Amino acid sequence: MEPRPPETECEFDAVVIGAGFGGLYMLHRLRSLGLTVRVYEAGGGVGGTWYWNRYPGARCDVESMQYSYSFSEELEQEWEWSEKYSPQPEILKYANHVADKFNLHDNIYLSTRVERAVFDENKNLWFIHTDRGDRVSSQFCVMAVGCLSAANIPQFEKLECFNGDIYHTGEWPHGGVDFTGKNVGVIGTGSSAIQSIPIIAQQAKSLKVFQRTPNYAVPAWNSKMDPGYEKEVKANYPELRAKARSRPAGVYFPFNFQPAVEASESERLSKYEEFWKRGGLPFLGAFGDLLFNAESNETAAEFARKKIREIVKDPITADLLCPQNTFGCKRLCVDTGYFEVFNEPHVSLIDISEKPIQEFFENGIIHDEENYQLDSVVFATGFAAMTGSFDKIEIRGRNGLSLIDKWAAGPRTYLGLSTAMFPNFFMITGPGSPSVLASMIQSIEQHVDWIVDCIGHLRDIGAHTIEPIDKYEDDWVEHVNEVSKISLRSTCSSWYVGANIPGKPRVFMPYIGGFPVYVDRCNDVMTKGFEGFLIDGKRPEPLMPKIRFTERWRVTLDKDVMSPADLAATRGPVL
Ligand code: FAD
Ligand code: NAP
Repeated sequence: MEPRPPETECEFDAVVIGAGFGGLYMLHRLRSLGLTVRVYEAGGGVGGTWYWNRYPGARCDVESMQYSYSFSEELEQEWEWSEKYSPQPEILKYANHVADKFNLHDNIYLSTRVERAVFDENKNLWFIHTDRGDRVSSQFCVMAVGCLSAANIPQFEKLECFNGDIYHTGEWPHGGVDFTGKNVGVIGTGSSAIQSIPIIAQQAKSLKVFQRTPNYAVPAWNSKMDPGYEKEVKANYPELRAKARSRPAGVYFPFNFQPAVEASESERLSKYEEFWKRGGLPFLGAFGDLLFNAESNETAAEFARKKIREIVKDPITADLLCPQNTFGCKRLCVDTGYFEVFNEPHVSLIDISEKPIQEFFENGIIHDEENYQLDSVVFATGFAAMTGSFDKIEIRGRNGLSLIDKWAAGPRTYLGLSTAMFPNFFMITGPGSPSVLASMIQSIEQHVDWIVDCIGHLRDIGAHTIEPIDKYEDDWVEHVNEVSKISLRSTCSSWYVGANIPGKPRVFMPYIGGFPVYVDRCNDVMTKGFEGFLIDGKRPEPLMPKIRFTERWRVTLDKDVMSPADLAATRGPVL
């Protein structure tokens, strides 16, 4: 196919950067407002995460009946998931189905990376440049760049000397990789590693897993979709979605509000067994205080360690695989046969916690003076989370202020939706919103609907620009920080706090106050006439038009899960 010519001198109402679930739904909603929209996507297809993460074993860990869009009843009813946790190819197919169904493709330019977005204060327009030579302008600039979309490839010494193949789980080759007969090394033991290692092990001649920090994982107990369950969900989808929205993680699962410390040991064990049998992230719902009380947390941690020791036969390996940190402090992993794999004679665990990987050499990796001969190395080393894809774009707001400079000490946003000095600039699941701590399609839909209602209102009143007022942004940033301290999650070195990227300031980036509490706050800001925002250039009308409001976000706080107090509202598991 002929490469498309660059577009220049085009003016859009909105430019959206990214065509994952966020960008796709944003495009659909903006177009329904009658706006002209261009979406630029760096990948060669839509789907974002599910376009890039094609590693063996990749699948969602929020069950598919909930990890899906809720905005279209027809879509909900027609789509059939094959498994409880559907695999990456099926989720990618779903994203493409959505793009087809809502005729989104024509507005999306693929294989096009936005390099620059600069606000012109005289024209009140964003000027956007891409690596394909596009030079366009737009009133609104929407970042749908994803929270986990900038691969972290640590710069190991002499990496360039390695003659074998290197892969990152988040940039997996489209044709797949055949590890048959190969000596493979995997660096990292987070969710991506834990999903891929059992499958890589089935093919590889030998597998060395380089582990810096062990992780907790709860079995997925994945299965084919139960037709009875699917039918029941489809018959009651609005109720399920409403229940999910009222939960701290934006996803519904049984939740026991009782504190673990108040249960007897036998009660605790039986609850843990019950929730372990349910499997996956809902295990966090076994007791209400697991992420808030260190003593309670330790009971869950020890339960999970005992499970590892029951599976892994070699006691030294089992010990190394047992995390000693807080349970669920780093993102909890969900596994299928991960610990079992270490009983295989061709799989070994290399502990790099005390001594890091020394360097690469032409045939592999050197660690602790030992040479590991490898044909292929898989980097399961994660992402520069939440801000990584922002950092790759030169974004300038008023007075030429760059976003990187503004966020040098950590991201500063108002509600994770916008940031002062950057007018008409919106973020989908930006730092300071629940984003990664909730089921992300819920987070995305709520943000998109809020932004579109906001843009619709600006149009109704003929306004030129909207941007947060410093004081409101400062208060929000402080609130996000304060709330994070209530959770044990703020205490460990995870990607939530940027600790996986050397030099990144340590700030708890997502909002941990719970999805419904957050949604309630967004609603409040909107219904109070966009409190905390400066809206400029509106028509001098005596009667303001009614603010648009997407009704499905009118949340009711679930009193079974949350007490009325703010502090208790932050309780309950978040993903
Ligand atoms: P993304 O899907 O990341 O899409 C962002 C897009 O923006 C990308 O395609 C990227 O190429 C593009 N982009 C970035 N910068 C530029 C640029 N400068 N120019 C042009 N394009 C650009 N969440 C859950 O809730 N449940 C799960 O089970 C779950 N599983 C996951 C599994 C994996 C392996 C990973 C990595 C993440 C998972 N997540 C999960 C989180 C997941 O990222 C979100 O659920 C969701 O897919 C994010 O959608 P998005 O559109 O916001 O971002
Ligand atoms: P991750 O959780 O950040 O894990 C990265 C791993 O690489 C960690 O074990 C980390 O060790 C290790 N690592 C990083 N830099 C290293 C270095 N220089 N030397 C040695 N080891 C290094 O990344 P991820 O597994 O890709 O997952 C990221 C997130 O994506 C998840 O938390 C989840 O939200 C989402 N995800 C979900 C699923 C799913 O099941 N649906 C699957 C994959 C991803 P340390 O812990 O010591 O830093």
